[in-house]
Amino acid sequence: MSKTAKSKTAATPLQPTRSRAIRKALVPRELIAHQIAGHLALDFCNTAGEHLRARPDELLRDWESFLRWATQVGLIGPPSYFELMRHPEPLDEIILLREAIYRIGLAVAGAGRTSRADLDILRRCANVPRPEIELNGNAGQWRPAPSHGSKQIGGLLAAEALSLFCSPRAARIGVCEGGNCGWLFLDESRGKKRRWCDMNDCGSRAKARRYYEKHKPS
Ligand SMILES: [Zn+2]
Repeated sequence: MSKTAKSKTAATPLQPTRSRAIRKALVPRELIAHQIAGHLALDFCNTAGEHLRARPDELLRDWESFLRWATQVGLIGPPSYFELMRHPEPLDEIILLREAIYRIGLAVAGAGRTSRADLDILRRCANVPRPEIELNGNAGQWRPAPSHGSKQIGGLLAAEALSLFCSPRAARIGVCEGGNCGWLFLDESRGKKRRWCDMNDCGSRAKARRYYEKHKPS
């Protein structure tokens, strides 16, 4: 499944600091990917559907979809979305980073071996200055520089991934058992029993398959 279901949440309004024309603009509401992972770095990995396939279903199709995803997960706010939209960048580095995180995630989940080359990609991407922080009351919000949006957002994601992989919580990383789904998640359940990205998705399809196998005519 492509997991591009529609968002149930309302579009996020722009903060009232821009011109009147932009102030009325809304970040497009169509959801890029369901956030089921329980961790930002793993949700980032899950921006490809059927991720174990040789050619996954790419959900980050362009700069806009990447910024929309970053807004939907709360990494940037609507003002940054509109600001960075005026400075489009290629996604090659972002996809390269995502796949490196994904391969390490799979390895940590028990499906492979972590490579030094992938770790080096994460360390290189994480090794950039953090974006500015905009205060909204007492809460902070990343405000990437328009000319370095890709590098700075990538840096935040790489740092999140490294913090996870180099922590005891890494032992909680699991991978969905639904065919080629391959989505990663942080399994916080007691006894680490989670098997599916989503019970209503891969879980229910597996259940339907089991039902069919049990009841099919011999
Ligand atoms: Zn799944």
